[in-house]
Amino acid sequence: MNQISQHLTEIRQRIAAACRRAGRQPEQVTILAATKTRSVREVQAAVEAGISHIGENYVQELLTKKEHLDQAGYTDVAWHVIGHLQRNKVKYVASFCHLIQSVDSLRLAKEISKRARQADRTQPVLIEVNISGEDTKFGIRPEEVAELAAQVVQLDNIQLQGLMTMPPYSDDPEDSRPHFQKLAALSQQLMDGGLPPATMRHLSMGMSGDYEVAVEEGATIVRLGTVLFGPRED
Ligand SMILES: *Cc1c(COP(=O)(O)O)cnc(C)c1O
Repeated sequence: MNQISQHLTEIRQRIAAACRRAGRQPEQVTILAATKTRSVREVQAAVEAGISHIGENYVQELLTKKEHLDQAGYTDVAWHVIGHLQRNKVKYVASFCHLIQSVDSLRLAKEISKRARQADRTQPVLIEVNISGEDTKFGIRPEEVAELAAQVVQLDNIQLQGLMTMPPYSDDPEDSRPHFQKLAALSQQLMDGGLPPATMRHLSMGMSGDYEVAVEEGATIVRLGTVLFGPRED
């Protein structure tokens, strides 16, 4: 077994254990490989190890890796945008992207709606929430999410599927727990306020340092780089 396969086996065990602690099912949690700065060979190795969801921060990197994997015959990979998305890049991804996780403005949502319509499809998205209020992070403030969500669900060719967040970095995974709890509570609050449950089916939260805590708090997508591939050289 190669290294990525070994890592993936351990990650799956840890997710299963976190699910048991929380009374959840492992099938409710999607493992997404966060592949920024990883080579096309590493990404292909991850797919060969069983990864089927890939998230990229940078559109150009995503397109390069997709082209490589398409040519290698891996055409059923689900591609996600997990980094800040500029409006002028939407046209490159709205024809195929499985999930754009970083919607943080109505202007961006409108551009996604327009480009998805041109591609004759519906683009699933998440709203990125700056749940900690840290000012260096992308995402909108929790107080603004209800209004943006209500606007996004009115647009054609775009389908809201939930919320994404990235808490401040910490060595202690327990530091992330209150942020994950806040995101889960916000999602519940939006449904209580009338948003259909299908628009809040996903909570994308948890990275290498805190994904087990995130799963305990209801994550449906964990975004993993370092624990899957090893340390990044950046
Ligand atoms: C890099 C990145 C991740 C994964 O980070 P690791 O700590 O390496 O697991 C997850 N989500 C986003 C948005 C990222 O940029």
